[in-house]
Formats: sequence, C-alpha cells, structure tokens
Amino acid sequence: MIIAKRAARATTHLRLKRGLSSRASGILSALNIPTNQEISGVYDGQWKGSGEVVESVCPTTGEILARINTASPADVSGALTKSREAYLQFRDVPAPRRGEILRQIREGLAIKREELGALVTLEMGKIRTEGVGEVQEFIDICDYAVGLSRMMNGRVVASERPGHTILEVPNPLGVVAVLSAFNFPVAVYGWNLALSLAAGNATIWKPSPTTPLTSIAVTSIVAKVLEKNNLPGALAGLVTGGQPVGEVLVGSKEVELVSFTGSERVGRIVGQAVVSRFGKSILELGGNNASIVMPDADLSLAVPGVFFGAVGTAGQRCTSTRRLFLHRDIADEFLERLQKLYGALKPGDPLETDTLLGPMHTPAAVNLYKSTIDYLRSIDADILFGGKEYDVTPYDGGNFVQPTIAVPKSVDMSDRIWSTETFAPILNVAIFDELEEAIRWNNAVPQGLSSSLWTRDLRNVGKWTGPSGSDAGIVNVNAGTSGAEIGASFGGNKSTGWGRESGGDAWKQYVRWSACTINFSNEAPLAQGVNFNVD
Ligand code: NAD
Repeated sequence: MIIAKRAARATTHLRLKRGLSSRASGILSALNIPTNQEISGVYDGQWKGSGEVVESVCPTTGEILARINTASPADVSGALTKSREAYLQFRDVPAPRRGEILRQIREGLAIKREELGALVTLEMGKIRTEGVGEVQEFIDICDYAVGLSRMMNGRVVASERPGHTILEVPNPLGVVAVLSAFNFPVAVYGWNLALSLAAGNATIWKPSPTTPLTSIAVTSIVAKVLEKNNLPGALAGLVTGGQPVGEVLVGSKEVELVSFTGSERVGRIVGQAVVSRFGKSILELGGNNASIVMPDADLSLAVPGVFFGAVGTAGQRCTSTRRLFLHRDIADEFLERLQKLYGALKPGDPLETDTLLGPMHTPAAVNLYKSTIDYLRSIDADILFGGKEYDVTPYDGGNFVQPTIAVPKSVDMSDRIWSTETFAPILNVAIFDELEEAIRWNNAVPQGLSSSLWTRDLRNVGKWTGPSGSDAGIVNVNAGTSGAEIGASFGGNKSTGWGRESGGDAWKQYVRWSACTINFSNEAPLAQGVNFNVD
C-alpha cells in the first residue's frame, strides 16, 4: 500500500516537473518553492502538513503550479497549542523590541518584493503592479507598526476619589487567527500580522484555499526573521486548507480574536460562531460600492477613476466600483468616454508589464459572471459593453471575461442586481437628477464598504461626508472607490461587518484593555459617595 502511494506520488512529481511552464517555474524558484515535490502547507515552527492535498492552479493558463499538503485537524490543534506557547513567551517582550522584529520582517519582504508580487500575479491573477503593490502594502504597514510599537499607549484618567488614579492599560490579547480571502493574498495578512505582532500576540493564518503558495512564501520570509531572533515560529503560524480548517480556528477557545476577511455569507457564519463563545472578531466582508458623478465633476478625473474602480483586478476587489450613478446632464458624455476606455482594454498575461486586464481567479468566478449576465438579459438591461467570455490566445485555459457595463431598466435597489455583490467586472449604471436621490441609492443596499462622489462643489462635499451623506466606511471625494492607503483605518459598515483594520485606531482591537484604579492614599473611599461602614 505504502509502495503504491509512493509510486503514485513519484508519478505526480514527474507530471509536475514536466508540466510546469518556465513562466511559472522561474517565479517559484526565485522564492525557493520546490517545483518537483509536494509542498508543506503548515508552519508552527516546523513545516509539515498531513491533511488533504490541494492544487494551486494558475488562473491565466489553467496549469497546476504545485500540490500542497494542507492541515489535518491534528495539525491545526497542534499549531494552536504552539501558538499559545509562543504568545506566553512573546507577551513579555517589550513593545519596541517587537517593533524591531517587524522592522526585520519589513526588510525581508522588501528584498523579495518583486518576486513575491510576481507570485501573487501568478497564483491570484491580478496584474503585476497590483501584485507588487500588495507586497508594498505589507511593507508599509510594517513601517507603521514599527512606529506604533513605541506609541501603543494607554491613558491616565482623572479619578473622582482623592489619592486615586485610574489607568487604561493595553496588554497583549493572546492568539489572533487571520482568515483571508483569495483576492488580497498578501496585504490582508500583512495588516493583521503587523498590528498583532506589535501588540504582543501570536498569529495563526488560514489563507484562501486557492492561494496557498503565496501564503507559504510569505510565511517563509517571516519565519526566517523569527528564527534569527530565537523566537518561536508559531508566533506567525500557518494552516492552509479550506472550510474545515477555518471552522476549527473559528470555534477554538484558544483563539481570542478572529480577523475574518471574505464574503458576507461566510462572515455571517463566522461572526455568529465567534460571538457564541464570547470571542472577539473583526469582520471585513463584501462591498457593493457606488460612484456618483455630479454635473460639475472634472470628467478627465472621474472617467479614469471609475474605469480603474470597475475594471482593476478584473472587478475582484472588495472596493471595486459596482454601481455608477450619473447625473442626467453628463450621463451620455460620461458613458461614451468610459466605453472608449473599455474598448481600448486588452486582456492578457498579467505578468506582462503592459497588461491591465488579467483573468478571473477561478472558473467558478467565470460562472458567476455568466449567470449575472444572463440575469441582466432576463431583466432586459441594456448591455452597453462586454457580456461575454474572452478567448485569449495563447491562454485559452485562462478565466478571461469581458468587463461589462449595463444599464438595468429598474433603479429599485432591492433588486438583486443592485443589492448583491457580484464579484466580477460588471458595472451597473443608473441616471439621477438630484444628489439626494443618488445618496439614497448609495445607502439603500445592505453593504457599506466604499463610496465616491465626483464633484467640485463644496456644498455637495459637505452633504456627502455629513450625517445625511454616504453611510459607507470609506467616503471619498474625487477619488475612486478602490485604492486605500494603510494610514487610515480600513473597513465597512452594515453587512460589510463594521470591522476596521490597518491604520487609525485599528490596533486597539488587538489588545485587551484594563481599567486599573490605584489607590495611593491612606483612605479607601468608595466611588459615587457610597458609604459601607458598619459603625
Ligand atoms: P470566502 O468567504 O469564500 O472565503 C474567505 C475565507 O473563509 C477563506 O479562507 C475560506 O476558506 C474561509 N471559509 C469558508 N467557509 C468557512 C467557514 N464555514 N468557517 C471558517 N472559514 C471559512 O471569500 P473569497 O471568495 O475568498 O473572497 C471574496 C470575498 O471577500 C468578497 O465578498 C470580497 O468582497 C471579500 N473581501 C472583503 C474585503 C474587505 O476588506 N472588506 C477584502 C477582500 C475581500
């Protein structure tokens, strides 16, 4: 039996070795990812993986990039134990020392920035500058967290009692599980790891089952730094795999904080599971983002802004522009100019520097695109551009679709075409007469991630950013819905989950807060003048 298994494995290795294109093998070798054997997808200080074997498939060519040994239930529970031990050691390391570790991780990432970016492109399918941009985002948040490690301050609160002082003290939280989506296979983990490590926690990562190689390459870089500093590798553990692996982490009392990025459907399950055991969660879920273009907008900014928002990453960003509300006065001109840009777009290999449109991530994503186009046709929407798959020679094994602009007849925002996030490059357009109407539409969907208004009129800006304005977590003016920076906290409201990550005050979620009253007097008065003396 064992011999038969070995023989089967040997054949697999041979097939892998022969099958891999030089396009792929160059990138994998530059990151020391073996191309002739199955790869360990679990790291808890040691590399292992005794669970299901999954394939990493290139969305551009359809070729199998590698086979990965993912985590078994025993691997996950072993990794959680190691994470706990690592936390118990790390929590006593002073925060600025933890910052120094992050500085070294930042250096490790910077050295491999281009290679790692190329791997993101190879495995996820986004274009090269976006792949490298994601790694840059991880580098940036490390810089931020290095500074933060000297500024994660509590507060001194004025006490009403004489001779007393109250401190609000942040301490490390414990083990943080990061469950991430396929479309940002580096940056989302980076945002979490940087803040979590700076805060003194151990982090355990379950990436998307379709981007295991990227997570292995990132973890290898981080692990080397930990090793060099004699710190336990389980401070940055990795458990690859699918839903069952995620479920163990989400349900485990050993995990103080679950930071989940993914769809609303799964986020709802995860949120409920975590709250049922009184754990903490950060939910970063789907977006259904709108751009509103006023008649006074500078169209030379607005048209390319909407174009990038709708088509960038082949429409697979949580912040992608999915709804476009055009003022009647500029609608025709706007759509004409937008269609010209769509027409100039050429799909191709996202690794090539001049490609702007790569593939969808999976064949399932293509099916979602196709069924949504069918639905648009069934409701008699005008399809102004696109609506089909692309045959991209020589990448006929790839998942290419035409970015689509549609004008549904109805502007009823409760119709599924408006109210659900379709994770594909489909932009639905509606025409409005008054800003208030467009803001109402903007707010009328369950999601509340990103939104953008194009105008040069200060009065519109005030309305848009004020109490009767956009109810999203990201409210932009003359900037598209996608393309956030790490300095501000990132996240959405309503069914996007209310989570905040990255900059701003996001770090405060990665610590446990204690209010500490210290009496340095010779009396012990009670607050609010309460008297509890027996005599
Ligand atoms: P998904 O919800 O299918 O998967 C996300 C993660 O959850 C994966 O790691 C998956 O393996 C895991 N998972 C699945 N079922 C689980 C369960 N029952 N318990 C625990 N874990 C489980 O999402 P996806 O298709 O990978 O990503 C696309 C979605 O992510 C889109 O909706 C997009 O808007 C969203 N997203 C949101 C943000 C944000 O910051 N708001 C960022 C990126 C992506």
